[in-house]
Amino acid sequence: MTDGFSFSLTSPAPQTEPDADGITREKVIIIGSGPAGLTAALYTARAKLNPLVIAGHELGGQVALTHEIENYPGFPDGLDGQALVDKMKEQAERFGARVKMFSAVSEVDFSGGSPFTIKTDDGETYEAEAVIVTTGATPRRLNVPGEKELTGHGVSYCATCDGFFFRDKHVIVIGGGDSAMEEGLFLTRFASKVDVVHRRDALRAGPTLQQRAFNNEKMDFIWDTVIDEIKGDGSVTSVTLRNVKTGEVSDYAADGVFIFIGHDPNSDLFKGQLERDRFGYVITDKEMHTNVEGVFAAGEIQDRIYRQVATSVGQGTAAAISCERWLAARE
Ligand code: NAP
Repeated sequence: MTDGFSFSLTSPAPQTEPDADGITREKVIIIGSGPAGLTAALYTARAKLNPLVIAGHELGGQVALTHEIENYPGFPDGLDGQALVDKMKEQAERFGARVKMFSAVSEVDFSGGSPFTIKTDDGETYEAEAVIVTTGATPRRLNVPGEKELTGHGVSYCATCDGFFFRDKHVIVIGGGDSAMEEGLFLTRFASKVDVVHRRDALRAGPTLQQRAFNNEKMDFIWDTVIDEIKGDGSVTSVTLRNVKTGEVSDYAADGVFIFIGHDPNSDLFKGQLERDRFGYVITDKEMHTNVEGVFAAGEIQDRIYRQVATSVGQGTAAAISCERWLAARE
């Protein structure tokens, strides 16, 4: 096992080896590699805590799927989501963070307090003195043909991220909840027309948002309707609509499809281990402590409200600083 401090500041520290019992012992493990996780890695690395990031199967989470980010401060010309994540990783590694790629956490045991046990789907077992959970949330997919292929090319799950690219365009919003109304209203700032396609004839959204949506002259509603397919060659050109009451199927031209049918926090792994709210989000206090001492959470796994790269970065920073203070206080 390394002592965690014997690495150069310009190259990643060597991987820690398992002890004789097959368990690899770490000071800090960060679960997840989105902006919150990679920022927590940067800060804990600079605090000389030699963090190990277990990245999951895809580095970067949701942000890596965003083709251009224009609201992340410091980049006036915008930047590609994947490029931002790659730079965050590089920056964390420069200070000694180690990023374990293509491996996801399959099991955690926080029940006995620190050190915590973490198992990965490639058969490794770790013990960590402190853990920062940053597993994010996943926008629900429609699971219709064309959706996956056209994601980032007209299909989006984030109006704040992508709305700007639909200036004077015709977009479709799917969903009838608060998110669909809020994001649909945001899209009216850019789009020439926003059609809300909802599977029922009444919205789920609260009355205030409903009223604002009904009053907005750019917004229209297509009731009792679902999308069977999203079409386009390189970018979205139309959708196939199906009226669930009449069965009528039609092709409807559109430049963009924004899907807001809910998000699910990626917190199943922590069921029975960490306190979660009724939506499944991990509950933290202002210092990003969970209910288990020594386990912190940051980013969309604990944030149902803001869901921005900038807020996740801030929460990752706060979690890392709290983690460092917590470890220092026990020593
Ligand atoms: P939500 O309330 O669960 O609404 C999801 C919407 O998507 C519903 O209208 C649902 O239809 C529809 N839907 C679900 N699956 C679908 C599918 N497969 N195909 C077509 N439509 C589908 O989710 P949300 O809007 O993301 O809100 C989540 C929580 O955050 C809610 O508690 C909400 O109040 C809260 N929130 C609050 C605010 C705010 O207060 N400003 C803003 C955003 C979110 P049905 O109605 O038929 O089920």
